[in-house]
Amino acid sequence: MRDAEEKVLRKIDETQVVNLTRRIARVLSQTGHEEEMAEVFVDELKSLGFQTEILEVTRHRPNVIARLKGSKEGYSLLFNGHLDGGRKTPLPGWTKEPYGGELCDGKIYGEFVRDMKGGNAAMLMAMNALKEADLELKGDVTLALTIGHAEHGLGVEQLVEKKVTSDLAIIGEPTQMNVCITHRAWIDMELTTRGLPTAYHTTTADKGVNAIEKMSKLIVAMNGVKWKRPKVPTEVERLYPNQTCYWNIGTVEGGFEGWNSKSIVPNYCKAGLNVRPMYGKDYDEMLGEMNEIIAQVKSSDPNVEATLDYVPGFPLDYLYIPSSSPLVKASSESIRHGNGKAPDLVKYDWTTDGGILQRRAKMKVVVWGPCEALYTPLGPDEFITVKELMGATKSYALAATKISTRNKHDFDRAYK
Ligand SMILES: [Zn+2]
Repeated sequence: MRDAEEKVLRKIDETQVVNLTRRIARVLSQTGHEEEMAEVFVDELKSLGFQTEILEVTRHRPNVIARLKGSKEGYSLLFNGHLDGGRKTPLPGWTKEPYGGELCDGKIYGEFVRDMKGGNAAMLMAMNALKEADLELKGDVTLALTIGHAEHGLGVEQLVEKKVTSDLAIIGEPTQMNVCITHRAWIDMELTTRGLPTAYHTTTADKGVNAIEKMSKLIVAMNGVKWKRPKVPTEVERLYPNQTCYWNIGTVEGGFEGWNSKSIVPNYCKAGLNVRPMYGKDYDEMLGEMNEIIAQVKSSDPNVEATLDYVPGFPLDYLYIPSSSPLVKASSESIRHGNGKAPDLVKYDWTTDGGILQRRAKMKVVVWGPCEALYTPLGPDEFITVKELMGATKSYALAATKISTRNKHDFDRAYK
């Protein structure tokens, strides 16, 4: 390890990391109500001596930015995490206080400590260690804590608009400290069926066109959709062995518009669909494949009147960074030393705000953070261990040091 890296690691203080995590574990930060969480971070950053910037995205919903300035000879690095994550009514079954920040047997309990309060605390404390080590930085290091992750990346969209961007980015979402090089896109859609403008009564239902019935036909038919596989690099192909697109019908509503009656033949039905295509799947092609199913149903039943549209704000983009990229290699080395275990290169079946940074700001983006990536439903008694937290803090600190204390040429050469 280089001297600079040793020096930065010595500046990480476990008590400080734990206290910050416990403090933010106590804050409920639902999407749309992130202000209190933002204030806590601003307070922490200021007390640590950071210059902070508050960028209001919409009223009472600010992004929080903290920067360490470099000489511009090196690559700039952005740490990004979302401020939102919280439930007004916690999941049933908690034996601890969901917003108590309790520390018990080396575990800090709290809703959303895994996704991603712990990651945010670790990124902030890593940056603080870099600051305290007082090194000559060649590249800027920025921490951006953003609102509206669950609102199609609203806060990160603003970062791009305000040019709070960088050459490289690390998104601290939970990957169990594996390096995520690709993830899926996220597309919300609305499928609508229409009946007739005339209100037919149950007793004359045979004269009407039941929009809910037509929807159920379509839903059944949709199960037969054939997703064409996109052409992608071999390492991406390997990471998505099946399921080109995951999809789910999450909501259905219907009836006769303006008349809440079970005795009237419904003239509309709306189904909310969520589709998660793998990296590289062409969105228009995907839409075409779904529309093909609709066309087939229409051809066997001319009374089917249906449209399929994106919900505004979608698609949220997928992500891919080649494993040969210096950012990926530097991340892996940082995790190996900082967390004590060599990471795997993985994919994520969810979506991060990194897709926006990659597509809109042309940044090189990688995703890695503490705690398990959850393939099971979120449960009660969520916790992060102090060990996970410290492993992440050290790894982020090492990555920031490796990147920001070298000029571009030296960094590329070290990780080519
Ligand atoms: Zn998350």
